[in-house]
Amino acid sequence: MTDKQNIQKAFVCGWPIKHSRSPLIHSHWLKELELEGSYEKISVTSEDFAQFLNSLKENGFAGGNITIPHKEHALELVDDLDDAAKKIGAINTIWFEGDRLIGSNTDWIGFASNLDQYVQGWDNKEKIKKPALVLGAGGAARGIVYALLQRGFQKILIANRTYEKSIKLAEDFGPKLKAIPMGDLENIPSDLSLLINTTSLGMSGHQSISPTIVEMISNLGLETIVTDIVYIPLKTEFLKCAEDRGLSVVDGLGMLLHQAAPGFEKWFKKFPTVSQELRNLVIADMEKSE
Ligand code: NAP
Repeated sequence: MTDKQNIQKAFVCGWPIKHSRSPLIHSHWLKELELEGSYEKISVTSEDFAQFLNSLKENGFAGGNITIPHKEHALELVDDLDDAAKKIGAINTIWFEGDRLIGSNTDWIGFASNLDQYVQGWDNKEKIKKPALVLGAGGAARGIVYALLQRGFQKILIANRTYEKSIKLAEDFGPKLKAIPMGDLENIPSDLSLLINTTSLGMSGHQSISPTIVEMISNLGLETIVTDIVYIPLKTEFLKCAEDRGLSVVDGLGMLLHQAAPGFEKWFKKFPTVSQELRNLVIADMEKSE
């Protein structure tokens, strides 16, 4: 009989949490690696969040994932933060080191690993000299900017509907960043190394991309790699537009899968693989919920 005491337990908590696909991902890895462990969805309100974190140890959790709306609140509640969480300003993964609760943000790893998997040389020494353009300045954009800086990109342009937010993001991350007004997108250099959509535009049920962005994409050189972090639908209008222009595109599902791996390793002590089988499993689940 299995000793229940030795089973590693992890979770994802948020409010609402019903639609989270993290349990599907982690349960797949637990099964694939033949590990004794559990990963559950826990619905936690903002009022209960601090108490929930305080009782993790006594409830036998090795750690877990934190999602909306607790990602920023968690910064104040953990004992220590890694550099990514500090710079990004949000936590999505926590684990214990002894009695100390550590917080990290792994979205940037998810983003970079997704491109590593699909576009060899996306961050080579020629690419990092050319500008990367990030559309959006929300929470996810901060993770993307952190990833680009980690990989050595020397010029990162940020364009966002609310210009003030892109200025703030550029100030927070330093001189390699420049905020540009949306109206200036038509003058963007055509030799971008990367174009990244981090806005929620293009998500199922949301507004479609603007004519300015369509026009900009049609003027880009064929070397530009285009990625969207929105993954429902998998092929967003933004990616379709880039594909029509003949550009290489990468969808956002790989980011979701890869961001989960470092947490799994912390709790269950094995680094999992982001395989085609896992990707197919999540796509099938997405199709089921359409
Ligand atoms: P957020 O903090 O709410 O930011 C939303 C961003 O989208 C802001 O820049 C916002 O601009 C912009 N936006 C929203 N509606 C817009 C519109 N109608 N026109 C132009 N811009 C608009 O959200 P987030 O956490 O950054 O997430 C953004 C998207 O990324 C979501 O769809 C999320 O599901 C996805 N995401 C995917 C992954 C993954 O693993 N693939 C990870 C994280 C997030 P303003 O500042 O002007 O409001």
